[in-house]
Amino acid sequence: MTFNSSIRYQNQRLFVDDVPVLDIQHAVNTPVYIYSQRRILQNYRAIEQAFSAMQPHIHFSMKANNSLAILRGLRQVGAGIDAVSGGEIYKAIAAGFDPSHIVFAGVGKTAADIRYALDVGIGWFNVENVQEAHLIQQLAAGMGRTHVRIALRLNPDITANTHPHIATGHGAAKFGLTAEAIRHLLDHQHEFPALTMCGLHVHIGSNLKDTTATVEAIKRARELIAPYPNVTTLNIGGGMPVAYSSDEVVPCAADFAQAIALHVDGYHLLLEPGRAIVADAGILITKVLYTKFQGGQRLVIIDASMTELIRPMLYQAHHDIVPVHHDSNVQHFPTQVHGPVCETTDVMGRDVDLPELEPDDLLAVLTVGAYGSVMSSHYNARPRPAEVLVHEDGTTWNIIRRRESWSDLVQGEM
Ligand SMILES: *Cc1c(COP(=O)(O)O)cnc(C)c1O
Repeated sequence: MTFNSSIRYQNQRLFVDDVPVLDIQHAVNTPVYIYSQRRILQNYRAIEQAFSAMQPHIHFSMKANNSLAILRGLRQVGAGIDAVSGGEIYKAIAAGFDPSHIVFAGVGKTAADIRYALDVGIGWFNVENVQEAHLIQQLAAGMGRTHVRIALRLNPDITANTHPHIATGHGAAKFGLTAEAIRHLLDHQHEFPALTMCGLHVHIGSNLKDTTATVEAIKRARELIAPYPNVTTLNIGGGMPVAYSSDEVVPCAADFAQAIALHVDGYHLLLEPGRAIVADAGILITKVLYTKFQGGQRLVIIDASMTELIRPMLYQAHHDIVPVHHDSNVQHFPTQVHGPVCETTDVMGRDVDLPELEPDDLLAVLTVGAYGSVMSSHYNARPRPAEVLVHEDGTTWNIIRRRESWSDLVQGEM
């Protein structure tokens, strides 16, 4: 059985490329995130290829996964970065990115963030607030900066087909500027002599299940900037989806490229994909701690929880959970897969079709490369898990983040 070009069973054992998951588990223990570099680069190149006629700049949205090793790999194939905080800019620079290849979005940029971004020479500010535009102007002027590139982020007032918690383009969302506010800013560009307002940014949400809302948002964006010929760049954000279960079908990069091609003609194009690059390249390996039959249900308690992967709890997200040792000949049962954290909602999967399990059996939670480890926490004083990258050769691998220890838990406290 094959989940994607890199995650598959071979002789009933789960592999990441040519590495048996068991080898990594023996060396690193659980819980452990494992990523396939080959799959990450393949996803990146698929987007590059799908949009090639439009010659976009692809800025990896690093809030999906900010591991330095993964960032370095994407830098080497030519990606830029979409950052949403000063800390992300700092990490991107630590991974070797040229600041001019970083775009900086976010509804709440602090003065310190903005000063830092100006100081390093960030490529673009994606501005989400009129006050923010004034603050960037004021700080840039104070630092003697000119030609600071600005893309105004439009809230297109469109409800995307995705989970409400990850939709960002409806009128009531905190993101972006209204069309009216953007027109006002573009009509008063002389009040911002340090800024060059030459871009329009629109990002309507994540994991978009179809291309309709994206096309509509781009149409509204174009209509808005048509009277302003100095606005020559369209940044259409991220949002390309991934399939979170084996029977789900979602539009691919080529579908998005085809849908938007006509509408971005004549503009310089920027993309900010996050999930579509890293999600299906990552798996989380976890060990069964206990099993019990209770309340008429088959329960397993695993050693991974909402502190390693909060998506099921935060977004009611579904992740396929599969055994590391797969035997299709044995009977499978609906199983409730619970984490050990003291919260009733710490459930990794409900009614998961799994074989009879015993303590120490291994399970893999699939499609966790995006919005997984970046959201990990110390809740219940749980050290963060180890992370491993299987290299592009498919056979060598290394630990890219060591497993935290208990002493890490008290670091930084007085
Ligand atoms: C989160 C985010 C993205 C990436 O979204 P994906 O769905 O992961 O592709 C892109 N742009 C902005 C501004 C974001 O906040």
